Amino acid sequence: MTYKAEYIWIDGTEPTAKLRSKTKILPDGAELPTWGFDGSSTNQAPGENSDCVLKPVFSCPDPIRGGDDKLVLCEVFLPDGTPHPTNNRAKLRPIAERFADQDPWFGIEQEYTFFQAGRPLGFPDTGFPAPQGPYYCGVGADEVFGREIVERHLDACLTAGLPISGINAEVMPGQWEFQVGPGGPLEVADALWVARWLLYRIAEDFKVAATLDPKPVKGDWNGAGAHTNFSTKAMREAYEPIITACEALGERVKEHIAAYGHGIEDRLTGLHETAPWNEFSYGVSNRGASIRIPWQVEVDRKGYLEDRRPNANCDPYEVTRVLVDTCCTALEK
Ligand code: ADP
Ligand code: MN
Ligand code: MN
Ligand code: MN
Ligand code: MN
Repeated sequence: MTYKAEYIWIDGTEPTAKLRSKTKILPDGAELPTWGFDGSSTNQAPGENSDCVLKPVFSCPDPIRGGDDKLVLCEVFLPDGTPHPTNNRAKLRPIAERFADQDPWFGIEQEYTFFQAGRPLGFPDTGFPAPQGPYYCGVGADEVFGREIVERHLDACLTAGLPISGINAEVMPGQWEFQVGPGGPLEVADALWVARWLLYRIAEDFKVAATLDPKPVKGDWNGAGAHTNFSTKAMREAYEPIITACEALGERVKEHIAAYGHGIEDRLTGLHETAPWNEFSYGVSNRGASIRIPWQVEVDRKGYLEDRRPNANCDPYEVTRVLVDTCCTALEK
């Protein structure tokens, strides 16, 4: 008979794009067609010339509707066939292709915060909870808030076949993390956008809003980041290329900060396990550095680096593009 395809795309909201989606009913077995939407309602087109085009680029089973239903991630195009200016995936494609022989891998740690009635989940109606300390990887109703949603989300990602690699409760109450990867730039960035959509969609059933706000509570409360773990084939085989990549990152700081999400200056203050956004540093095991080389990587003399700078609200197409461009260009020499 028919199945439901949920077409998902990234909109033109400034300064941070949001996800949108709508449903198409298709005959069983039908290919996923090109579709369209009203760009004047998503900050992607003027009203008098409002058509934008959706081209499916990734699909997976829909773990919420089940059966043969699908989630369909799309790129946005203009009617003349050129990528829409908001289509950052189109900017990543040529870079990913150019450096494919170096086999770049990513693992992205997506932090996020649940909100209910305008307060982080687990915060009292007025005032603040006990200071940070017991919440990170905690257990028990006094320390952990929203686990039911988090477990549902993890199962949904696994059912969809997304390369999710773990979850943990974070330092601030109501704050959590999931990790996507390791995998190539397009694979991991696509999976992260779909995993974000599933998170919002599942939390909706609990009347909870998940937010990627990089600094959801001012003051002595951790921000939310998207630590990005990165390696190439050469880095997975030897230590020297890891240092080469770190040195190259130190040469292109401004370009990276610009691609790492809006409001990065508010999160990368030098406090709360961050390095100041305008001072580049790298070091083994150092959670106060821009780039951390995990201790095991130094012991093994091979592996990967962790760029701790990207904000939770970053676009993974942008983050992976600049990392591949900077590091793979340096390693090519
Ligand atoms: P942390 O100790 O910083 O909290 P996590 O365990 O949360 O680290 O996340 C580490 C991420 O790094 C995971 O997504 C994992 O898949 C990824 N990863 C592991 N090895 C590599 C590698 N060689 N290249 C890129 N990413 C990797
Ligand atoms: Mn309509
Ligand atoms: Mn982590
Ligand atoms: Mn974390
Ligand atoms: Mn980390």
